[in-house]
Amino acid sequence: LVEVGELKTGKASPAARPAIKAGSLEVRDLDMAYGELQVLKQISLKVEPGTVTCVIGPSGSGKSTLLRCLNRLVEPKAGDILLDGESILAMKPEKLRRRVGMVFQHFNLFPNHTAIENVMLALTRIKGMAGSQARHLAEAQLSEVGLAARADYRPSRLSGGQQQRVAIARALAMEPEVILFDEVTSALDPELVKGVLNLMADLGRRGMTMIVVTHEMGFARKVADQVAFMDEGRIVEVGPPAEIFDAPKSPRLKQFLAEVL
Ligand code: ADP
Ligand code: MG
Repeated sequence: LVEVGELKTGKASPAARPAIKAGSLEVRDLDMAYGELQVLKQISLKVEPGTVTCVIGPSGSGKSTLLRCLNRLVEPKAGDILLDGESILAMKPEKLRRRVGMVFQHFNLFPNHTAIENVMLALTRIKGMAGSQARHLAEAQLSEVGLAARADYRPSRLSGGQQQRVAIARALAMEPEVILFDEVTSALDPELVKGVLNLMADLGRRGMTMIVVTHEMGFARKVADQVAFMDEGRIVEVGPPAEIFDAPKSPRLKQFLAEVL
């Protein structure tokens, strides 16, 4: 585990900012099937602490299923996943989900709770934190995502972009070692996409270990340390963005880029 602050800036982050813990992740020969349908085939991927990995590829290629395996919303058939060198398949799923956060396309906020309550609930219910301490931490996380002034708003009174920021603050509040993002800007109105992407880029710069499934090729090119291209359940190509976007090797990646760029 790497204590961030030091990682990318060379000095500790200011005391007032919530700390980031950056874990490593390694996927080894992962197979996953829904019944008869083989969805992940021999997936291997190494994610270094404090790096951003973008996963791109056509719809149905298995991107969401890969993320779901990484926090055990679904169970793989074979292979292993190591979080900081420790197999997650031996961990209790509830415990693992404190260490690996996830943000979804449709925010999944509780509609009857305010923004700050949505962030606090994870802390009081899952972490068993006292209310006053949870409120303090939730306030800090909301201000990190630029929503301190909206703490007492319910989700219905927030824009999609603001709701997604609350969801990100909620994931961050658990102090995960890795955060998974599954097409988190796909449901947003176009003018709201940039704000959320900027927030994610900022998180990456602060040294969070992130795996980001995205259709935003500009984001992948600019922010990713590595890009993995998936097709039909396999990682067909993986490398730094300059290689993936400017010098694709496989015909399938070339075709995919021709369609999306
Ligand atoms: P992506 O996120 O790249 O679009 P998914 O991981 O969602 O891909 O889906 C991969 C394949 O698994 C697709 O063929 C999809 O239809 C299938 N699939 C996804 N979820 C389920 C499920 N819950 N049950 C059965 N098949 C599923
Ligand atoms: Mg998906």
